[in-house]
Amino acid sequence: MAEKRDYYEILEVNKNASETEIKKAYRKLAIKYHPDKNPGDKAAEDKFKELTEAYSVLSDAQKRAAYDQYGHAGVESQGGGYGGGAGFEDIFGDIFGDIFGGGGGQRGRGGHQRGQRGDDLRYNLKVTFDEAAFGTETKLQIPRQESCGTCSGSGAKKGTSAKTCNTCRGSGQVRFQQGFFTMARPCNECRGTGKIIESPCSDCRGTGRVRATHTLSLKIPAGVETGSRLKLSGEGESGVQGGPPGDLYVVIEVKSHAIFERHGQNVICEVPISFPQATLGCEIEVPTLDGKVRMKVPAGTQSGKTLKLTGKGFPSLQGYGRGDQLVVLRVETPTKLTARQRELLEEFSREGGESLCPSEKSFFDKVKKMFD
Ligand SMILES: [Zn+2]
Ligand SMILES: [Zn+2]
Repeated sequence: MAEKRDYYEILEVNKNASETEIKKAYRKLAIKYHPDKNPGDKAAEDKFKELTEAYSVLSDAQKRAAYDQYGHAGVESQGGGYGGGAGFEDIFGDIFGDIFGGGGGQRGRGGHQRGQRGDDLRYNLKVTFDEAAFGTETKLQIPRQESCGTCSGSGAKKGTSAKTCNTCRGSGQVRFQQGFFTMARPCNECRGTGKIIESPCSDCRGTGRVRATHTLSLKIPAGVETGSRLKLSGEGESGVQGGPPGDLYVVIEVKSHAIFERHGQNVICEVPISFPQATLGCEIEVPTLDGKVRMKVPAGTQSGKTLKLTGKGFPSLQGYGRGDQLVVLRVETPTKLTARQRELLEEFSREGGESLCPSEKSFFDKVKKMFD
C-alpha cells in the first residue's frame, strides 16, 4: 500500500484547525469527490474514501490527539483500522443524512426504472378447531390490484406505447442544487415513473393495474394455531410498470371449541363425574379430536385428577407425532336430591361417624377455641 498522506493535508486544513473548520472542509471536499457526482471515476472514489478516513480521525478529539502525537501509527494501534468500511457509513450519515440517498449500499434502491414492487397483502382466515388439528383446503377470495389485461400492464392504449419522460430522461428523479447539496426528488412530470403515457388505456386509466378479485385455493397444514402465518409468494398486489408482485400473508385465527382447549400440542378437556363414580370407580366416555373413547376412572379419584390419552392431541406443524389429550376429572356435588337419596347420604354420613347437624354449643366452642 502506498504511503499514507497526512490527514490535515488531505482535508486542506492547518494543524490548529478548529472542529468546525475541519467539518466544513470535509463537507466541501466530500461533495466535490462524492461518487454520485463522479460516476465511474475511480480516482474520485479513492479520494472520497481518503477524505472520510481523515475526517473520522480528526473529528474525534481523542483520535486526533493520538494522531498528533504518533501519526498514523497512533490511530491504527487503537485497534480498528479505518480503511473504508467501519465508521464510514456513520460519519457519512451524520453529515449528509439522506440527501444522497442513504449512502453506499442502499443507493439506487427502489429505482422506478425497473418498476415498483407490488404491495404485500394480509388476509385473516378463521378456521375451526378441527380444521386446525387435521388441516383443510379452502378457497380464498382476494381483492387485489392486478396487471391490466387490456394494455398488458403498460397503461398505454392498445397500439400505442409509453414515451420516455423528457424532464427526467426516464430516471423518474430530478436532481437540483440546494446550497452545498445535490438533492433528488421524484419527477413531477411522470410522477416518478420515468414514462409519459399520451393515450392512456381506458380500462386502467393509464395506471396499468385494475382492481380484481382473485380466487385461489389454499392448503392449511395440520397443526396451525392462532397467529400462524402462511406466505404465498407473488400473490400480493401486482407490481407497477413491470415490477414484481408483492406477497400474500394468510394469518390464521383458530376458533375456540365448546369443550376442548389447546395448550401447545396438547388438548385439554374437563369431564364431570359424580361423587359415587369418583368414589367407587367407573368407566366413562370421553370426546377426543378423533371421536369418543372409553376411559377407566379408578376408585377413590379426587376432583382435579388428570388422566392422559397419549397421541390424541395436535400434530406438530414441523415434524411428526402428536401431542396428548389431558382429561381433567371434576367431581360434582349433587344439588338436587330425592328424599331417598338424602336418606341414604345421611346414613352414609352417620356410618362414617360424622355429625351433619352439630349442636349450637359445640359450634361456638370451636369458634371460641380459634381465638384462644
Ligand atoms: Zn390498461
Ligand atoms: Zn419524469
